[in-house]
Amino acid sequence: MENEILVKVCSKCGIFNSERAEKCESCGTKLDEAIGKKEAEDLSEEIEKRNKKISADIAEAKTSGPAKKEIDLPVSPFRKVLGIIMAVVTVVMTLGAIVLIFCPNPFEGKNMAYGEIIIGGFLLAFIMAYLTAFCLFPGKVWSAQLYFSSYRYSQVPIPSDYALNMQCVAFIFFTLMAIGFIVLEVWIMFKAFTGV
Ligand SMILES: [Zn+2]
Repeated sequence: MENEILVKVCSKCGIFNSERAEKCESCGTKLDEAIGKKEAEDLSEEIEKRNKKISADIAEAKTSGPAKKEIDLPVSPFRKVLGIIMAVVTVVMTLGAIVLIFCPNPFEGKNMAYGEIIIGGFLLAFIMAYLTAFCLFPGKVWSAQLYFSSYRYSQVPIPSDYALNMQCVAFIFFTLMAIGFIVLEVWIMFKAFTGV
């Protein structure tokens, strides 16, 4: 044992350094304690393997093509049902707004903004159509939204479950608003056709 050659293996590049060296001759990394030759050879081999793997990973990352511009997001059963309800509500309120265009204005001479109500209906329907698409195809809309935003991501970030759940809260809020609007439309039609 007293004749054993002691060396210091660099933990970064794996080369052997003299047992008296403080820093790696090749890369300057601070060296650990000197160890026996056999042990040093194993360690050196291990480090070499690790370095090869890192190089391969880097090469692969460089050649794996452009970063993903579109991601897939899971659509929960709740989200699916909500999206279908939203689609129906959107269609109904759009049809309602179209019917109102051809309705006689029941507020004639009463200083009510009939035209603005109709325009409001179309605006809300437009927002609802967008939110419905977001609800049913979250991955596509989320990716497109980021694509058109001024900040360009190299890779589309994945929203948290919390963010996706909060979206549903917003969807429900707008859906209730749209249902309220349908009630308003029906009320106006009722007034227009019955004259009450
Ligand atoms: Zn080194």
